[in-house]
Formats: sequence, structure tokens, C-alpha cells
Amino acid sequence: MTTYFNYPPPALQDELRKIANAIVSPGKGILAADESVNTMGKRLSDIGLENTDENRRKYRQLLFTTDKAVGEYISGVILFHETLYQKADDGTPFVELLKQRGIIPGIKVDTGVVPLFGSEDECTTQGLDDLGKRCAQYKKDGCHFAKWRCVLKIGKNTPSYQAILENANVLARYASICQANRIVPIVEPEILPDGDHDIERCQKVTETVLAAVYKALNDHHVYLEGTLLKPNMVTQGQSCAVKCSPQEIGAGTVTALSRTVPAAVPGVVFLSGGQSEEEASVNLDAINKFEGKKPWALTFSYGRALQASVLRAWAGKDENIAAGQSELMKRAKANGEASLGKYAAGSIAGAAGDKGLFIKDHAY
Ligand code: 13P
Repeated sequence: MTTYFNYPPPALQDELRKIANAIVSPGKGILAADESVNTMGKRLSDIGLENTDENRRKYRQLLFTTDKAVGEYISGVILFHETLYQKADDGTPFVELLKQRGIIPGIKVDTGVVPLFGSEDECTTQGLDDLGKRCAQYKKDGCHFAKWRCVLKIGKNTPSYQAILENANVLARYASICQANRIVPIVEPEILPDGDHDIERCQKVTETVLAAVYKALNDHHVYLEGTLLKPNMVTQGQSCAVKCSPQEIGAGTVTALSRTVPAAVPGVVFLSGGQSEEEASVNLDAINKFEGKKPWALTFSYGRALQASVLRAWAGKDENIAAGQSELMKRAKANGEASLGKYAAGSIAGAAGDKGLFIKDHAY
């Protein structure tokens, strides 16, 4: 085992660390708006809209023209390739709208999951081949951070050693390629909530997966101060009969992270994973209220839990754009407060109420 290697040169370290710290500055988190064309199609069909370029553009325009005050709670937006190059009705590029709100543009760079042959329905994530070239271009086009989602599944025999090792390694290669191109990698090893396992099993799997991820990041000499982690919260499985309290979720999550995530990592940005909007806010709040060692910022990078009410209020109608934007402001504020441990449960009600947002075997 060699111990001769180089971290990025000082100027690159500074750049990466500043971007990562800005994203997790106090009271702020990320809006994940990087749904693929397919996934966006499902969201649009729920409100009776066709999955056209124009409808996707109009929806993202609604998000990105929300009152500038949204920048008090949202520090970054993850975009899908198509969206990065779209413009508002008046010709303003979306990236410019985000900048005007003090929001840092980010980009999803993985190309999706494929099965691991011979495994029990496990998968890995693709997209490494031309990643360096794409990152260089995305940086030129205004993106300063990226996301790559790996998926792990809890079953009787899973996640397997094969899946844990492969996904940790591919995340590390992705992270290293991003950093070489001045992009902060969000490292996302998502353990799906599917299954009837209890919270204890989820905690153990989370600890094992995260330990493997940080070993791989170390093996690839990734500069941790210039990364962010996007994990699942530690919860019971979707179909487990015993439902845990937010306090139990807070304790299980912080304990798992404290055992595995180095203090050099500036922030942890949770995915919402099918929790209702209110649950996602209450659980993030409980995580921050939990008294234990928490050397990282603990905030949000929500997709469904920031957009369910927006979609419902908008319903694809021009006259409802303001109503949709007001829903985004509400959820952004609720989660901003939760990231500080200052959210009062039930204090900010959204149009989607407490509706569960679970999708079986969720693909992005
Ligand atoms: P959800 O918050 O909807 O789980 O999605 C966040 C995300 O970006 C998953 O990759």
C-alpha cells in the first residue's frame, strides 16, 4: 500500500472548500431539481400535463423565478443537463436566474443505474467514461457542484459485499474526476427505504456503507473538505410495522454518521427518500436537535419533499404560478429552520399536506 500521493494544489483546495462551505452555510440547503426526462414525465402526468420540453421548461421556470428571498434558504440547485441550457420566457438563462438569487448551480452527472449481474437485484451507477470532459464543460457553463447517485438495497442478503464495494469505488472515482475539474462532488450512496426492516438494521447498513465509501474516498485521495455527503436518514423500512419517532430517527442518523463520516467533511445534505414534506422537515429538525457530536452541517438536498406542494398548487396553470412559488418558499423556509433545529412541527403547512411521497424502487 503506497502512501505517496498528492492532494489538489492549494488554490484548488481553496476553491473546492469555499464552494462546499457556501452550499452548507447556516440555515441553507439544496433544491434537487435534477429529475430525468422520464421522472419529470411522471411528475407532470400526475397533474395531467404532457411530458414535453416546453412543459418541463415552464415548470423549472416557475421554480427559478420564485421571489429572490428564496435564496435565504436555498444555496444550491441541482439541474438536469437539459435544464442547464434552458431559458426563461424573456430569454434569461436559468443559470442567470439562479445567480441573481445567490444560488449556486449544480448538475447531475451520473447516467443512471444498471444491474449487477449475478446479484439479488442490486445495481451500480454508470457515467464515468466521458465524465472529465463533461465536468470541464459544465464548469465553463456555470456549475460548481455535481451529484452522482448510487443505490443500495436492504434485503435478507443485501446489500452485498459486491454492491457495497463497487458503489463506494465508483463514487470515489466520480468524486476525484469532479475535483480535478474544480467541481465539488456530492457523494450520494442512497440506501432505499423499501422493505420491512427495522431502524436498527438500517443504521447498521448505513454505517457499513458509509465506512466503505470513506475508505474508497481516502484510497482515491479525494479532498474531503471539498465534498458533501448526501445520505438517506436512518429510518425503519417503508413497510415495517413499527414506526419510529423523529427523535429515534435523529439519534440513529447522527450516531451512524458520527461513527463513519470524517469531521473534515463540511456538510451532510440529506435526501428526502419518499418521506412526506412535513416528515422530512420534522426529521431534519430532530437530527439537528439531537445532542451528540455533530462536526458537520446537517441540512437538506430534497427533491420530492420540496416540490410535491409546488406541483399540486401549480397544476400546470399559468394563473397558479404564484401559488406554486409560494409553496416552494414555505417548504424552503421550513427546511431552512429545520437545518438549524428551529422548526416547530406543523408550523408551515403545504398544499400536499402530510402525503407520503414513497415510490417503490425509486429511480431518479
Ligand atoms: P428525494 O428528496 O426526492 O429523495 O430526491 C433527492 C435526490 O436528489 C435523490 O437523488
